Amino acid sequence: MTASGPGERSVFTIDRDTLPPLSALRRWIARALPDLGASHLWAVQLVVTELATNAFEHGAGPVEVAVSATRQPCSALLEVHDAGEGRPVAGTPSSTSRRGRGLALVADLARTWGVRPAEPGKTVWAWIGCGTGAVEPCVVREEPILMDPEPC
Ligand SMILES: [Zn+2]
Repeated sequence: MTASGPGERSVFTIDRDTLPPLSALRRWIARALPDLGASHLWAVQLVVTELATNAFEHGAGPVEVAVSATRQPCSALLEVHDAGEGRPVAGTPSSTSRRGRGLALVADLARTWGVRPAEPGKTVWAWIGCGTGAVEPCVVREEPILMDPEPC
């Protein structure tokens, strides 16, 4: 796993020789988007967990996660790329199914999302935020958000 940022576009690469480091990924998101409002950051962290897990379970090659830190604290672009040919398909899970809810969650939390082809594979992207272009985030982050504190 390698990570860059914070910057305009920060990238976190997950190699396939390990379980996906989801808690490290969520902590990296919090650092890469220092100005994003708290509720939007929480949404980005949930969506990245779903998309990175999907890419890991159904995709191929390393999973590359990118976030763009805009100067608008109420909006962020998340992109998750893998080299697999398959496309994510939103399921209609039964009430007892543990699977198939991920993309419904993404659709709920993102203002807009989609899949674009890449060579190789595809990139799943999601815009998250209220899209107001506000100078101040709609929900100010008072404490650093670390969903997964380091174990003591
Ligand atoms: Zn907002």
